[in-house]
Amino acid sequence: MKKTTFPFFKSIFALFLLMSATGFAQNVDIILTVDWPQWSTENKVEFYDPAGMLLQTIDNGYDGAGPAANPYNETTVAVSYPVNSSTTAGYYVIVYDFYGDGWNQAGSLTITADGDTAFTFNGSFDTSGTNTPISQTIYFAVEEAPAPPPPFPGVSQFDTSGNNYIEYIRGNMPIIISAPHGGVIQSGETIGGTFYPDNDSALPDRNCGGSDVRDDNTDILIHEIQQSVFDQTGCYPYIIINNLHRSKLDPNRESTEATCSDTDALFYWNAYHDFIDDASNRVMNTYGKGLYIDLHGQNHGIPRIEAGYNILAADLNNTTANYLNTVSNSTITNLVSNNVGGLTQEELVRGPNSLGGIFQDTGGVFYHAQGNSSCGTTSGYRTVPSDYDQGSFDACDDTRPNNNAYFAGDYYSNMRHGSGPAAGDGVGGGGTIDGIMTEVNRRVRDLGTYNGNVYDTRPQTLVPFADDYAIVIKNYIDLHYNDFATFSYTANTYATGGADPTPTKTPSVSSVFTATPAGLSIHEGTGTIDLSTSTAGLYEITHAIGVAGGAGLGTCSVYSLTTMITITNTLSTPDVSEATFAMYPNPTTGKLQIESTQTISKVIVYNLIGQQVKTFNMEADQNSIDISELKIGSYFVNVQSLSGNTYTKLIVKK
Ligand SMILES: [Zn+2]
Repeated sequence: MKKTTFPFFKSIFALFLLMSATGFAQNVDIILTVDWPQWSTENKVEFYDPAGMLLQTIDNGYDGAGPAANPYNETTVAVSYPVNSSTTAGYYVIVYDFYGDGWNQAGSLTITADGDTAFTFNGSFDTSGTNTPISQTIYFAVEEAPAPPPPFPGVSQFDTSGNNYIEYIRGNMPIIISAPHGGVIQSGETIGGTFYPDNDSALPDRNCGGSDVRDDNTDILIHEIQQSVFDQTGCYPYIIINNLHRSKLDPNRESTEATCSDTDALFYWNAYHDFIDDASNRVMNTYGKGLYIDLHGQNHGIPRIEAGYNILAADLNNTTANYLNTVSNSTITNLVSNNVGGLTQEELVRGPNSLGGIFQDTGGVFYHAQGNSSCGTTSGYRTVPSDYDQGSFDACDDTRPNNNAYFAGDYYSNMRHGSGPAAGDGVGGGGTIDGIMTEVNRRVRDLGTYNGNVYDTRPQTLVPFADDYAIVIKNYIDLHYNDFATFSYTANTYATGGADPTPTKTPSVSSVFTATPAGLSIHEGTGTIDLSTSTAGLYEITHAIGVAGGAGLGTCSVYSLTTMITITNTLSTPDVSEATFAMYPNPTTGKLQIESTQTISKVIVYNLIGQQVKTFNMEADQNSIDISELKIGSYFVNVQSLSGNTYTKLIVKK
């Protein structure tokens, strides 16, 4: 299934969920401010609720007795009242003038609701009466201020300028992607049928050298990749986008060249990198490690993806055996020293499980169907470096650049936000977030008609490519990073009288333990089982990455693991050494023979989600049960002996 829209509907849904979570008690803080520069003793304000109850009064005597130059100001403290959006029957004020000529010298009343102005009155009454008190009743709406920028996954937030130049969509996976060169805003160009004016006088064109060539459509590609990862996993990678055209800002350069020393551009440069830093901190705090990808587009002569690790072409071209294993200068330094499969840098950069190797082996059906094959490829996406050498001459060898154009990932962002040496300005580097620069070729970015806008006349490869790109990065994390939820107890059976067991887990992650069905007392943060307050049964324990109490927002269920634990009653001290059990046949059509050196007291059958489906209270001489009435499927069969030992086996019912 292909998508051609950004996740607006999901965004709105998420916003609605958040609003619902706060309940219906919508209140706003109301503040009244009067400014009476003259004749203040002639003036009064009364504030009423929709039921006509007087809530507040402001006056300075209201007897007309003061002198002309008698200024008076008052601002009430904020008091919370329920929302009422009616402007004809809701909250109202009655404003008074004792002398009947209106408030003198531009006297005014301002009412704010949650900091936003709800109402102003300029002291000009619609009636008058010389030396006669007049009043006027004015209704106004009291509504909540707009929600602040959403901090939750999948919803855009922007830099604080209000211009939406720098965009950040928080995620909840250990993947961060940035797109620095796809921006269209302030380009002065028509792109996809829309004209983007160059009209921000605070942002002059960069004139200090360096390219201002846009990486076409990478602004759309990054959104599509995020959406596709979400469609495939239910979780979001973090994305950061420079929506400004590269002629205004190049955030993949040190700040001076990026902005040509323009202070307004520097504001956006900082916002861009601050957002990436925020994403990195969140990934580190939750997962302990992760991957940053800087997404670019190039149009080099050989149509293939270039993956950059700050390993220069000369080093990749070097034929010395295992040369790359000695390089510690790459932006995946942390991954080389700490990857799940124990692979070397050579294997991580151009082995079968390198990013390039996975791209070569993933999807590409639509891309190739459009005539984009080269060097005889029929699937996947050519990527350098990778484990593929499709021919005997340079242009088909994807294991190394040889003398062909290649972006090595040695630019600013990959250095600053990857785990290798710091960027040229001394910022960043190190840590446990690795960096890879992916420069994707032009033919994977064709849009044709997209969201009703005509970009080019070619078949749209971008969205199918985004789906494949999403598969690649998900697999890359699974292969090399994913020990996030690994955990284990020392046994799979515990008795209620025993010592409370605590599982081992990957120490750097933030995670939550839960158990089903009810009856197991487990500590959410440590997984420690309180045996004295747990009841006997078979439980499924889930270890999920996320923040305890996060109520679903901010958690990602992709990285979770489960295990089964049996809790038994302590009837007498079990002698494990003497207890042996066996159960057969397996699979069975119904009858199950149970053998043990001990007397069997009870057999409980559970389905795979831990629900008890059958219980057998065993006679002293009984050594078999019949489960023929159960549906075909797999079951956990838990055997308990009279002396407190227990045994659980997965049985297949045919
Ligand atoms: Zn670029």
